[in-house]
Amino acid sequence: MATVLIIGAGGVSRVVTKKCAMNSAVFSHIVLASRTKSKCDQIANEIKESLHVTIETAAIDADDVEALVALIKKVNPALVMNIALPYQDLTIMDACIKTNVPYLDTANYEHPDLAKFEYKEQWARDKAFKDAGIMALLGSGFDPGVTNVFCAYAQQYLFDEINSIDILDCNAGDHGYAFATNFNPEINLREVSSKGRYWENGEWIETEPVSVKMVWDYPEVGPKDSYLLYHEELESLVQNIKGLKRIRFFMTFGQSYLTHMKCLENVGMLRIDEVDVDGVKIVPIQLLKALLPDPASLGPRTVGFTNIGCVFEGLKDGQKRKVYIYNVCDHQECYRETGAQAVSYTTGVPAMIGAKMMLEGKWAGKGVFNMEQFDAKPFMDELNVQGLPWKTIEMKPDETFEIK
Ligand code: NDP
Repeated sequence: MATVLIIGAGGVSRVVTKKCAMNSAVFSHIVLASRTKSKCDQIANEIKESLHVTIETAAIDADDVEALVALIKKVNPALVMNIALPYQDLTIMDACIKTNVPYLDTANYEHPDLAKFEYKEQWARDKAFKDAGIMALLGSGFDPGVTNVFCAYAQQYLFDEINSIDILDCNAGDHGYAFATNFNPEINLREVSSKGRYWENGEWIETEPVSVKMVWDYPEVGPKDSYLLYHEELESLVQNIKGLKRIRFFMTFGQSYLTHMKCLENVGMLRIDEVDVDGVKIVPIQLLKALLPDPASLGPRTVGFTNIGCVFEGLKDGQKRKVYIYNVCDHQECYRETGAQAVSYTTGVPAMIGAKMMLEGKWAGKGVFNMEQFDAKPFMDELNVQGLPWKTIEMKPDETFEIK
């Protein structure tokens, strides 16, 4: 029985808040706060109607540490869940340190003016969290999040040593728009248009944006063009997976998405610096965000499936072993259950499960942690009962789903 403070009221938060309300034995009192209070009220009203659970709402500017401290003191939660944007990670962490309240998020800190994804500044707060006697859980979404837990599960239960990991993220959903992003456009486009990077034999190898492509035959979905990207979970996994020689991340994109993105980039619409338009300062990517469909509105019109998983190669009892662990999610089923499409759903459900692990004391500690640092089993069990069941394929050492 615990009070939880959820910050942010976008597509992912809709799922987190509903899933917490559906687990009211653990989340007995939920407060939802965001920049625009009316968005919190809308989610709260929907939950009241469908689940008969009351959600308290509040307005908060999460860039303001003192305002956050005041809100946290007023609500007195057992946990703060940061479901706003990566820009707010540090201010919310600092407010948690000042009030001695545990913290959870779904994406690593990003400076608004630098398209850089790294844990450095969040890990730097480890001592402050230790000194405050509290825990921070970083990246409790799907990727990062469930992908880290799949890696931990493979390391703890399936392999003696893991030598290679490929993380494979496929969204085969169709929303019917020529161009839209499935989560916050600014964060999404900054990620995809950045240089790719993977880790091999102790070194980071950089690639030009979306230049390394393969066709992967995703189980239950089919073959899709998949592109090598840098993704934030790689940074912690290279530190925490023993024996690792290579780790890569691939994500699917359709040709229409890539052509639009390239065109927008070529005309300067992905720029994250200010430009002067007749005396008015505009950040092009923020204007683009305002023009594109709100990801939270894609739910009713998105059909198809996501398939996100990991292929592991390594050794077990002296023998080569290769295992594929993945989850398949149906956009329309997610929408029926929560009013959100599968990208929000696959992020929001693990955020709730991470919070549940912390509140039930199954994942405990003092300091700043990534998901793979805990026992994967209780989290994997929860995935099966909370809407994200996973499957395992035992592969032959030379078997692949790549279509050459
Ligand atoms: P949205 O843009 O839909 O929602 C973000 C919410 O945060 C909005 O309600 C917004 O308020 C609020 N917000 C923004 N700035 C502030 C602020 N300064 N103070 C208070 N509230 C603020 O994003 P999503 O729901 O799509 O994504 C949420 C998070 O999930 C992001 O960090 C994203 O990177 C992460 N994510 C993680 C994934 C994973 O697998 N790990 C996958 C997908 C997303 P307003 O409504 O007023 O704009």
